[in-house]
Formats: sequence, C-alpha cells, structure tokens
Amino acid sequence: MILGAHVSIAGGVSNAPLYGKEAGCDSIQIFTKNQMQWKTPPLTDDEVLRFRENIRLTNIVPAVVHSSYLVNAASPDKGIYERSITALAVELERAEKLCIPMVVFHPGAHKGNGEGYALKRIAEGIKKIFKISKSENTKLILETTAGEGTTMGYTFEHFARIFDTLGETKRLGICIDTCHIFAAGYDLRGEDSYKKIFDEVEYLIGIDSVKLFHLNDSKCEMGSRMDRHAEIGSGKIGLKAFSLFVNDERFRNIPGILEIPGDITGYRRNLNILRSLINSGTDK
Ligand SMILES: [Zn+2]
Ligand SMILES: [Zn+2]
Repeated sequence: MILGAHVSIAGGVSNAPLYGKEAGCDSIQIFTKNQMQWKTPPLTDDEVLRFRENIRLTNIVPAVVHSSYLVNAASPDKGIYERSITALAVELERAEKLCIPMVVFHPGAHKGNGEGYALKRIAEGIKKIFKISKSENTKLILETTAGEGTTMGYTFEHFARIFDTLGETKRLGICIDTCHIFAAGYDLRGEDSYKKIFDEVEYLIGIDSVKLFHLNDSKCEMGSRMDRHAEIGSGKIGLKAFSLFVNDERFRNIPGILEIPGDITGYRRNLNILRSLINSGTDK
C-alpha cells in the first residue's frame, strides 16, 4: 500500500505536498477549497504549477481530492442535487489540472425517499457529472460509509447496483474506509472474515474497482453505524486488521490514507505504526 494522509492546504493547495513530506507520507489526500462551503475560488495557473513542482520535489504520489461535505448526489432537493452534480464535475476538472488521478465523495443520503430512489439518483447524477465535466483522466471514487441516518454506501451491494445501472465503470472506483465498513457491520478483525469480505467485493464489483483506502480505526463497535474515527490500533478494529491490509499484495499500489489525527506529529506516529506492521518476509 502507498501510505499517506489527508493533509492541510493552509497557505494554498501547493503547500500540501510539503506538509505531506513532513508527516512522512508517500501519498496525500487534500481538499482543494473550504469543504464546508459551496463557494469554489478559482485555482490560479501559478498555484497549479507550484503544486506540480512540489509534488515533483517531494516524490509524493498525488492520490486524491476529497469533495465538499455539502455534496449529496442522492438528495431529493433539486437545488442541492444540482449543486452537488456541478460541484463534483468542477472537482474533477480541478483535480485533473493538478494531475491528481481521483476525486472521492460520499454517495449521499436519501432523506426518507428510500434506497432504490437514492441508488437511481446517484447513478443518474454520475452520468451527468461525466457529461458536463471536461476531465478525461481523473476518476470519480465512491466512498463506503458507516450508514449513519439515511446515507447510502454501507454495503458493497449499493456500489454493485450503481455500477450495474451505469454499465460503463472505466472512470469509476470505490474507496474502502476501514472505520466506515467496520461500523457498517463488516468484521475486519480476523483472517477468515477479512478474506470473506474481499471475496464478496470481488464477486459484486471486482477487486480492481478498489482504488483507494481510508485507514481509520473506529471508536465505535462493529455494526454500530456510527462514524467515529480513532487512531490506528487504539480503536475497536485493532492492529491485526491493519496488518492484513498493508500486507495484502493485491493492494500494493493502492493509496492508503490516514484521515486523523490531522497534525504532522500525529500522522508520523500513525504512519510508523502502519509501517511497523509490514512483513519483511518474502513468502507473501
Ligand atoms: Zn473516509
Ligand atoms: Zn468517516
């Protein structure tokens, strides 16, 4: 796994690779703007060039842009739905400018309109995003969720149904957030159950669809449907599961991104824990 973290863009997007380097990242996730607002200030050519230059200097693999928290591509509210579609199309174009290969988003919440409705609406939304966005290379990544409230994406079947509706999945992928799937009821704590989960992923959407991991431990119990991140090894998931992830050959070239604690020293500590779990043996 290519290990990294979600880093700050304080002082400009172009600083993110430098923060990543300082934290010991091999890869980074960023917001390209304030994630709590719809407003999207333009990325200047200067800033784009500086970002690319800093990526080159730090040797960091740019992984992914995390979309705004306001996005809800399943919203029954026409205004919010359309804003969400536009925002994701714009994020794809911004990411592509920065040579970032992925934009990740949470599939959305149906707010009482039902799951069938939501899955259809998300698939239609993705179709629209690809139609209006001029990006060609950057992929749109749907993130697994804990299933809080009426949010979709708490089972791999949801992604299978969205992908089946769309038919074409070349520009799509999924992000497995360890905290989210654990809270949603997937038991990551033993080798057998880990294997079963990925057999199911392979059967439903194909392991190749997994393009990204968010590596978070969980403060809440398995199946709690509560999304509360914990530092690696200090939550209910525990180190065994993370050692299975970082030693899984299938995910050798897939970015694994920490989302907490957020500060440089904390990220360093968590990355060290993950790296200490990597087997040096050649048998696997
Ligand atoms: Zn996440
Ligand atoms: Zn989360």
